[in-house]
Formats: sequence, structure tokens, C-alpha cells
Amino acid sequence: MLGFSIQKILLLVAILGAVWWGFKWVSRLDRLRKAADKTASRSGAPRVEEMVECPACKTYQVPRADKSCSNCGRPL
Ligand SMILES: [Zn+2]
Repeated sequence: MLGFSIQKILLLVAILGAVWWGFKWVSRLDRLRKAADKTASRSGAPRVEEMVECPACKTYQVPRADKSCSNCGRPL
């Protein structure tokens, strides 16, 4: 009835090992993701840039060093 053959025990050990290894892998990925989030939030300034509207051509763009429109060339 309740035959515990060596094959069944080995299969059970293999399944338990796979589950344990999978859990370890998932927790490692989670730890790496949290570390990456921490690094990203610690880097300071948010990655956004203020855009301005060109009064001449009405396009929005990031101001360049020479403060001129990249579309029409007029000053912003
Ligand atoms: Zn323009």
C-alpha cells in the first residue's frame, strides 16, 4: 500500500530541492530589485526637465544653452 521506494523518495527530494532553489532565486531577484530602487531614489534630482513653449511656433521643448528654439531658431 504505502510503498516508499527509493525512486519516490529521490523524486520527493528532487521536488523539494527545486522548490527551495526557486524560492532562493526569487528572493535574490527581489533583493536585487530593492537595492536598485534604493540606489535610484538616493541619486537625488528627479529625471524630469522643464519644457518651455516657443512663442513663435508654439512647440514645447527643453531650453538649450543658446536659448533659441530648435524648431524655428527664434529666442525662447
Ligand atoms: Zn519655435
